[in-house]
Amino acid sequence: MARYTGPVCRLCRRERMKLFLKGAKCDSMRCPIERRPYPPGMHGRGRIRESEYLLQLREKQKAKRIYGLLEKQFRNLYKQANGQAGITGEILLQMLELRLDNVVFRANYSASRNQARQFVRHGHVLVNGKRVTIPSFQVRRGDVIELGPKATSMIVVRHNFDTLDRAVPQWLEVSSTDHKTTVRDLPLREQIDVPVREQLIVELYSK
Ligand code: SF4
Repeated sequence: MARYTGPVCRLCRRERMKLFLKGAKCDSMRCPIERRPYPPGMHGRGRIRESEYLLQLREKQKAKRIYGLLEKQFRNLYKQANGQAGITGEILLQMLELRLDNVVFRANYSASRNQARQFVRHGHVLVNGKRVTIPSFQVRRGDVIELGPKATSMIVVRHNFDTLDRAVPQWLEVSSTDHKTTVRDLPLREQIDVPVREQLIVELYSK
């Protein structure tokens, strides 16, 4: 599946906020947002005419960029969310959170969602004991996610286990002994800490 391969710090600058796409660099002074907190390009510091459409577009772009999806993948996910009973925006965020690459990131196996995606694509992630190589795979309540034996001996993974201390969301349970992660429940909106106003995304796609 296609993915964005361009410079990622530009994406944060475009959204004028840290999207935490690069792992350790994001928490350091090397983060470009610290030095250049304005959009990239020749007109980055120019005056922007605010509009309702622009607000909606920016929220959609932000969500896409945080979770590392391209437009077509994001729109397809929206269509699936829209076809389900409930609040479309919340279901959309829930489906984004339940992606396997996001769960690998949330469980502190990886420093970023990009790295999580790579672990999945390279066959290092097991769901209920079976290898799954699809980053968009939707985990379900009760699923157990773990890294394969080869991955747990990799230096980068050992480094992540030793250094990453992001708070694990309540809907996941990570064992401190064998690093297995269990999906305890489906994530509620208040348990999803992404700075996205999902209602604006729904309004944009509903036009
Ligand atoms: Fe965004 Fe991280 Fe780059 Fe900072 S270092 S601009 S937070 S991706």
